[in-house]
Amino acid sequence: MKFISTRGNVEPKGFIDTVLMGLADDGGLMVPSEIPQVSAATLAEWRTLSYQELFLKIVTLYTNDEIPYEDLKQMAYTSYGNFRAPEVTPLHKVSDSLHVLELFHGPTFAFKDVALQFMGELYSYISKKRGEIIHILGATSGDTGAAAIQGVRGKEGIKICILHPHGKVSKVQELQMTTVDDSNVLNLSVEGNFDDCQQVIKELFGDLDFKSRYHLRAINSINFVRILAQTVYYFYAYLQIDGSADKQINFSVPSGNFGNIFSGYLAKRMGLPIRKLMIATNENNILERFVNTGEYKPGGFTSTYSPSMDIQVASNFERYLYYLVGEDSAKLSAYMSGLQREGSITVSGADLQRVQADFSALGVKNAQCLETITKYSGESGYLLDPHTACGVAAYEALGGPDETTITFATAHPAKFNEAIQLTGIGQEFPAPIQALFEMPQHQTLVDYDKAEIVRQLQAFYG
Ligand SMILES: *Cc1c(COP(=O)(O)O)cnc(C)c1O
Repeated sequence: MKFISTRGNVEPKGFIDTVLMGLADDGGLMVPSEIPQVSAATLAEWRTLSYQELFLKIVTLYTNDEIPYEDLKQMAYTSYGNFRAPEVTPLHKVSDSLHVLELFHGPTFAFKDVALQFMGELYSYISKKRGEIIHILGATSGDTGAAAIQGVRGKEGIKICILHPHGKVSKVQELQMTTVDDSNVLNLSVEGNFDDCQQVIKELFGDLDFKSRYHLRAINSINFVRILAQTVYYFYAYLQIDGSADKQINFSVPSGNFGNIFSGYLAKRMGLPIRKLMIATNENNILERFVNTGEYKPGGFTSTYSPSMDIQVASNFERYLYYLVGEDSAKLSAYMSGLQREGSITVSGADLQRVQADFSALGVKNAQCLETITKYSGESGYLLDPHTACGVAAYEALGGPDETTITFATAHPAKFNEAIQLTGIGQEFPAPIQALFEMPQHQTLVDYDKAEIVRQLQAFYG
């Protein structure tokens, strides 16, 4: 198995080089040269596997022999040994038609831990095996940064710098990032929004001299290993549902950068019987507009109760577009330069029909998000975080009769108490979150100014 760039101008790479490259050197995103297929018979055999066993089955389809099996196995068990639930991602049944897959039992109480715990182990492994210097650089709307920092804090051979938008992450997210005092961690708090942070990162990774001089490595979901690690729980969740062997199941996914839902698209292309992939967004609804009209056009930025989805430029969208145009790099590149030039992409006709067959979408308004939290707390005694509530609202709007939907709980409600409080519902914080409020913070406030950010990076990476 080799990996290639969506834009077609990178020599095919192995798995580890793909992880190290992050953003493809030609500005595209790395994808597998062909998608491995999982037959119905194989799927049936996987039904009794533990999360870690299933992880190994799926990930080895992509790593081939590049990582010895015993090494990969050790990484898998170390990564998922840090979760508070033995199932890693337990499935909670709300009703016959709705199941919630709890992805928040990792160290930072959000789904990013599932991929980033593994990625931390993997980077550490690559650093030791190959003597690679690993300088991680990333932007976060809150959860990625916290999970990435937890994934690599204190690890030898690795330094991590995370940019977050100043004052635009939740209190708990801020504390999770800034209370870490390991010397290999730098938090830059940027006067700007998430798209600004992501823009600086994109420019720095796009500067190949800078990238190689400072050994920059990505943890954002532009990195294929994140997409891959996330496909595992689609399979896992599907296999937990009684009678799922004979039916297709919907997934409703609270979405921002299109990373999590792209993992679902990949799982479907691998052969998992997924009926609908529902894109749940908030008032930043570029993806909903794309699915409904065919126009992909970044709009104005709105702060909402689900800040981890306050994103206008969904960086993984390019991966989907590549498959939509039939894996034609020239066509994809033309679309991407059109986006650069005109600020939008429009697909129509058969392509738009394809999009609407692959996805359905709902942009959930702030008021509806809170109503959904209140409703499920009242009726089922189950407290949804505001991102998960968007997912549940999308299931309510888009699920058909007699269909079963798995909605992802992408965060624990304690991470977003600012929104929960507005419903009047009280919650007790889990002890590891409560403890953060007593700890000193470490962060550097910077302007949204590339030159200033570069100076900070040069001083930190050395
Ligand atoms: C990151 C995040 C999302 C969005 O996931 P994408 O992969 O960026 O689409 C949704 N909910 C929560 C809680 C998140 O942290």
